Amino acid sequence: MATTKKTTSARGSSARGSSTKKAAPKAAPVAAARRPVQTSAPEVSRVRFTPPPEAKASAKNFRVIAIILWVLAIAAEAAAIVLLVKGETSFDPPIPFMTWLIALIVIDLVLVVIGSLLWKKANHLDPASERDKVKFFLQTQLGVIVAVIAFLPLLILILTNKDLDEKQKALLGVVAGAALVIAGIFGIDFNPLSAEQYSQQVEQLVNSNTVYWTPAGGKFHYYEDCSHVNMSRDAGGVISSGTVEDAAAVNLTSLCLTCKKRAEKYAEEKGIDLTPAPAY
Ligand SMILES: [Zn+2]
Repeated sequence: MATTKKTTSARGSSARGSSTKKAAPKAAPVAAARRPVQTSAPEVSRVRFTPPPEAKASAKNFRVIAIILWVLAIAAEAAAIVLLVKGETSFDPPIPFMTWLIALIVIDLVLVVIGSLLWKKANHLDPASERDKVKFFLQTQLGVIVAVIAFLPLLILILTNKDLDEKQKALLGVVAGAALVIAGIFGIDFNPLSAEQYSQQVEQLVNSNTVYWTPAGGKFHYYEDCSHVNMSRDAGGVISSGTVEDAAAVNLTSLCLTCKKRAEKYAEEKGIDLTPAPAY
């Protein structure tokens, strides 16, 4: 051991001259100091999900449209409330009061649901970080909060209104109540995706952050030798690969079922917890 060190230093000094004698002892502590920095850096970046610019841009567009639709939905609710409070007597000539109210509730519901679908789509393209639990909950479940705002005040006003007869109250109550439930269900993200989960799970299962997709397929694959990938390749298709984020950028946000089953089998064998299941 000692002899090898001596010969290498002797070779170095003979080749580069006396100046290397000063440089050699300096180089060793620098290399030693760099090592801990290098090992900690990938651990931090490993769980960091950075969507590509295209995915972020389309997520932003979806969010803007969702908010506009939600504002219009609440405007429809406000119009319904005005109609309910004023009653049909304020219209000249008379307008079918019940028809108008139900139409406004339906418009409100359609706008809220479309807004929620776009909002969830945006959250899957550009997921929120789990580090801030409150922000994560608000961002992933905002559709539910909007559903409550868009229907609960109207429902309360219908049920407490004294000018409506029992029949009208029952019908409007059922319509507004059903709208609240439907909007609430569409608002919930049953499988909220976090930036950390997405990257982590893929890495656990396939030991790298690479996924594959075919030119025509609507889903991405964990395994390059998945039967669907092989079929496409045999048919002359060019197989693309990249991170899950890259796949999301070309609108592939769900995992192939064959790969899913294979991954689940592998996870069971290796004892990997698949409960977050974000990519499904
Ligand atoms: Zn597959």
